[in-house]
Amino acid sequence: MRHTRAHTANRRSHHALKSPTLAVCSNCGSHHRPHHMCLQCGFYKGRQVIDLASQKEKRTARMQAKKEAIKAQFGSEAEAVSQKEVSAEKQ
Ligand SMILES: [Zn+2]
Repeated sequence: MRHTRAHTANRRSHHALKSPTLAVCSNCGSHHRPHHMCLQCGFYKGRQVIDLASQKEKRTARMQAKKEAIKAQFGSEAEAVSQKEVSAEKQ
């Protein structure tokens, strides 16, 4: 059955999005969800929970090794593609 415009508007009065509440990290100063670990530095309550810096280093090393393996397999053709990927990551 069709509702009136007022009925629809009343229902939709609760549909507005709220901005998320964010806390400031005591270690690096970036914003993070309250009662959650900081995703930038891996600290929670002034204590390092996860070593995100070393994880990122490992990840970049792994990616580099993968790219070199691809380059060795496909030669100069893949080189242009991987350089495009690197420039896209920098942006
Ligand atoms: Zn932090």
